[in-house]
Amino acid sequence: MNARLDPSPKSPTSHVRRLLRPVVAPSVFDFWASRLNPAWSWERPLARVIAREQASRDAVTLVLKPNRHWRGFQPGQHLNVSAEIDGSRVTRSYSLTGPPRADGRIAITVKGIEGGKLSQHLCREARIGDVLELGAAFGGMTLPERLDGRWLFLAAGSGITPLVAMVRTLAAQAMPVPLDLVYWARHREELCFAAELRALAAAHASFKVHFVLTREAERAEGESSGRIDRALIDSLLDDAGERHVFACGPGGFVDIAKSLFSAGAPTFHAEAFTPPPRVVEGGGNVQVTLAASGRTLTLARGQSLLTALEAEGLRPASGCRMGICNTCSCGKSSGTTRNLNTGDLAGEPVSALKLCISSAVSDLVLDL
Ligand SMILES: Cc1cc2nc3c(=O)[nH]c(=O)nc-3n(C[C@H](O)[C@H](O)[C@H](O)COP(=O)(O)OP(=O)(O)OC[C@H]3O[C@@H](n4cnc5c(N)ncnc54)[C@H](O)[C@@H]3O)c2cc1C
Repeated sequence: MNARLDPSPKSPTSHVRRLLRPVVAPSVFDFWASRLNPAWSWERPLARVIAREQASRDAVTLVLKPNRHWRGFQPGQHLNVSAEIDGSRVTRSYSLTGPPRADGRIAITVKGIEGGKLSQHLCREARIGDVLELGAAFGGMTLPERLDGRWLFLAAGSGITPLVAMVRTLAAQAMPVPLDLVYWARHREELCFAAELRALAAAHASFKVHFVLTREAERAEGESSGRIDRALIDSLLDDAGERHVFACGPGGFVDIAKSLFSAGAPTFHAEAFTPPPRVVEGGGNVQVTLAASGRTLTLARGQSLLTALEAEGLRPASGCRMGICNTCSCGKSSGTTRNLNTGDLAGEPVSALKLCISSAVSDLVLDL
């Protein structure tokens, strides 16, 4: 999907779309319109990369200009981003890193994961002018309507991204609540937004930033070392237990934050970027019938239906791959599945499931 985009709201497609609306299916319009300009679309949110800059040693910030099909977001939310890599469409979730802007531009900061498909593509290959497909914004870890109390943000690795969006939003309101941000990275060079966060702390007495490095021998001013635990956090601020807490990072980090704060904090919000350890199913195969396409496949138990279907060459719509964004929701008309995050069984005959966190326990019929 590395193509050029005409983001103009009055692009020639808008007139053509109006004329054709009653007679042409959007997918047919997209197919023929893309022969003229690969980025013209009836209804798909697409965005052009208009700037890229190195955010840290292994992360890149991409500034995107979406077309008018993009419906906007709240700070703290995420979106699915798709690109075509080696002939396949690959979709992953990324957080929006700033407040909504008048010019409609949005930004994501992507950390290159070793061996990762989309993060490596976006960090190494994505160029200004490339076009990416976007999904709708999702996620409930957003700022409350009424801002009060004292706040604590806990971020690890790329978990800084939704939190920096909220920090920037609060800074634009002159930091109306006392806020401490504790931000973990392995090495100093992996910290994103460090200079900006220091400048915001210097500009606003109610905002403090604490960098914690887990694999750095030397500590500079404003830095600590060690993994997340209560003693470390208490050494940085003396009222952590009374704060509204927002935590974001890998699953293990978020689990520890939850165990430290979810019981005592006035409010606790968290979002994990990696799934929790999955419940492992016994071996064997099941027959999965795809009602809409009339196919029956033999799939292994014990892995997510999404992974199993992809292994068969299918490409069902998907996004976060951990049960948050709902992109892979699909109807089931018979059979039993297991939720891989919780271990719960779902045997009701007609129900919806998320392919990315469901595995087949019995033969199934899916609305695919
Ligand atoms: C709601 C949400 C918001 C997110 N926001 C951001 C963001 O703002 N910036 C950002 O850089 N990432 C973010 N992520 C993570 C992102 O969606 C991808 O998982 C990540 O970019 C890796 O994708 P990939 O295609 O490169 O790796 P894949 O090809 O999917 O995986 C390659 C290997 O890396 C492992 N892996 C996958 N994701 C991670 C990870 N996050 N950390 C460590 N190992 C991993 C996999 O288990 C696999 O072994 C977010 C995830 C979620 C669920």
